[in-house]
Amino acid sequence: MLFVGSAQFDRKPRNVYAVATMNPHAGLAEVRREIEAACRDAGRDPAGVTLVAIAKTFDAAAIEPVIDAGQRVFGENRVQEAKAKWPPLLARHRAIELHLVGPLQSNKARDAVALFDAIHSLDRDSLAGALAKEIARQSRRPALFVEINTGAEAQKSGVTPQDADAFIGACRERHGLAIAGLMCIPPFDEAPAPHFALTAQIARRNGLALLSMGMSADFKIAIAFGATHVRVGTAIFGARTKAP
Ligand SMILES: *Cc1c(COP(=O)(O)O)cnc(C)c1O
Repeated sequence: MLFVGSAQFDRKPRNVYAVATMNPHAGLAEVRREIEAACRDAGRDPAGVTLVAIAKTFDAAAIEPVIDAGQRVFGENRVQEAKAKWPPLLARHRAIELHLVGPLQSNKARDAVALFDAIHSLDRDSLAGALAKEIARQSRRPALFVEINTGAEAQKSGVTPQDADAFIGACRERHGLAIAGLMCIPPFDEAPAPHFALTAQIARRNGLALLSMGMSADFKIAIAFGATHVRVGTAIFGARTKAP
């Protein structure tokens, strides 16, 4: 399978959508089979793993067949792209759940709370404050995942493992937020297992039930470490075309 580092996708111009290069039914069915096999190997119930189909860069024509194949939970990494793409799709299809998996600027908290059912990238106090305000204002409660920068990579968002407990505490106590779980994106060039293990450990000691971890290349490993949400794009939609 073609796998491209996520840093490259993020440089993609906003309104150039990729064309699906793969039969989404085949990709989706294969990913579901692999999730089931990984759950069997780990002695887990597949019902405990939610597949979040990451649709970033793909347009409605590519997404619709995946909805028709029964997928209901989708993820995007940019608020603007999701706002442009999803309202018509949400109007046409019932019970779609939309997750934001990319970085969120505080000034987009209003749009994010309005559109998304889950936000996987809570990583700083100012954003916690902005989300708390919008959650109260809109009476909407997206599931919130705190992003952990397990590799302590300077260029990556997320709170460091050492700051995680204090940050989760501040979200809960200072901002009155209900935190659902943790999310991590292991460094591209490292074995992901230790990063998944560390994220699971931080979740356990903070009483958090949900773990958003694992992408196309490593979701089976993530399931072995307790992932409850796997974020899979390429293996369902095919490779995203790079920025021109
Ligand atoms: C793009 C993206 C994914 C999906 O990556 P694939 O390798 O295409 O499965 C998962 N998580 C985040 C945060 C992403 O930006």
